[in-house]
Amino acid sequence: MEDICNKCGLPKNLCVCQDIAKESQKIKIRELPRRFGKIITSIRGLGSDVDVESLTKELKTHLACGGTIKGTEIILQGKHARKAKEILLKQGFKEELIDAGR
Ligand SMILES: [Zn+2]
Repeated sequence: MEDICNKCGLPKNLCVCQDIAKESQKIKIRELPRRFGKIITSIRGLGSDVDVESLTKELKTHLACGGTIKGTEIILQGKHARKAKEILLKQGFKEELIDAGR
């Protein structure tokens, strides 16, 4: 059976929902202090149309760090705001829609 997108009803290979999602989301990347002097990098605002799981995998691979998903938030171990932004840009997210702080 063919894979149909349940949002637009088109076959998955024709569906642009994920691309539209990338263009309309405002993504917030923040480096936050955690207990014991640790820093984590939080990426929020990705929206439900973004494949958070494969994006997290991509980030962890390129940044060589641990990471977890909390709902639609990605939490990476360590300070990665700047590099994480570069990776999101390479993934097709728009520069003006990424708020990396500072
Ligand atoms: Zn679709």
